Amino acid sequence: MKPAPFEYVRADTVPEALAALGGADDARVLAGGQSLVPIMALRLATPEVLVDVSRAPELREHRSDGGVLTVGAGVTDRELELDAGVRAAHPLLVRTLSLIAHPEIRARGTLCGSLAHADPAAELPALLLATDGEVEVAGDAGRRRVPAAEFVTGPFTTALADGEMVVAAHLPLPGPGSGWAVDEIARRPGDYALAGVVCGVELDGAGRCAGARVALFGVAATPVRAHGAERVLDGAVPDDAALDAAAAAAFDGVDVIGDEVHASAGYRRRAGAALVRRALTAAVRAAGEGA
Ligand SMILES: Cc1cc2nc3c(=O)[nH]c(=O)nc-3n(C[C@H](O)[C@H](O)[C@H](O)COP(=O)(O)OP(=O)(O)OC[C@H]3O[C@@H](n4cnc5c(N)ncnc54)[C@H](O)[C@@H]3O)c2cc1C
Repeated sequence: MKPAPFEYVRADTVPEALAALGGADDARVLAGGQSLVPIMALRLATPEVLVDVSRAPELREHRSDGGVLTVGAGVTDRELELDAGVRAAHPLLVRTLSLIAHPEIRARGTLCGSLAHADPAAELPALLLATDGEVEVAGDAGRRRVPAAEFVTGPFTTALADGEMVVAAHLPLPGPGSGWAVDEIARRPGDYALAGVVCGVELDGAGRCAGARVALFGVAATPVRAHGAERVLDGAVPDDAALDAAAAAAFDGVDVIGDEVHASAGYRRRAGAALVRRALTAAVRAAGEGA
């Protein structure tokens, strides 16, 4: 099937993009096109106007400043993955990017596009949630920053209002003394995750857990913090017993999704708990090595 007819607008600036978005009833931002174009080809989306922001110079920049990596909406996954500065400053992001699809797809797909697309199985919204990142949004009323926890509001649904677009993502860099891990279960490398986790552990001088962050993806309608696991670890010595207990509590209060094609809710819960255990072990080891 081919997409329905649409008008193509290439925006070279954010104001141009906003004018084009506001000028039609059903205009959509086009970034890397790796999710939008297949959906259009299936006619699951039939926008009147596509506003291509991928080449706007101001959106093509990324920079590390004051412990935060800021990534413009035109920066591709692959550019970040191959950038020496990003590799040194945010290895967790680079590991997370490597789990997304394949290099050819990452050469076009953008970090901000993934956030805006809000696929429940996507890795990057969970990374942003685990690390307390923010999404910078522009609209006619100006710019605002939305905390990760408030940005994804449902499957493929975000806090973006009509006529707004994402201009950048702000990703806090993992601090010294903390260890992080990302892991997922997928049928084949590059497939969307059936269950995934991004987690971080900070150790104090006595080897106790001074803070734990655990975000799950692929298991619920949105990425979700595993508060049960975090509560078990806070203040505890992260030994085998504590990590077992944290993994067992990871799905407390999580409304786990299941389907007959990919995985049942029971499978996601069981496999996800094992995944959390494995990722927490790696995060604790990394925190110990960094201390
Ligand atoms: C075979 C295949 C495998 C994949 N596997 C994975 C995977 O394992 N994990 C994963 O996370 N993703 C996966 N993807 C999706 C891929 O990573 C996409 O690149 C990503 O989800 C969307 O980024 P994009 O830049 O391509 O966005 P686009 O496809 O251009 O846009 C996606 C949606 O977001 C909106 N949008 C994009 N940018 C903005 C913006 N700046 N402001 C407002 N709205 C915006 C668009 O309007 C559209 O609705 C896969 C894709 C393919 C084709």
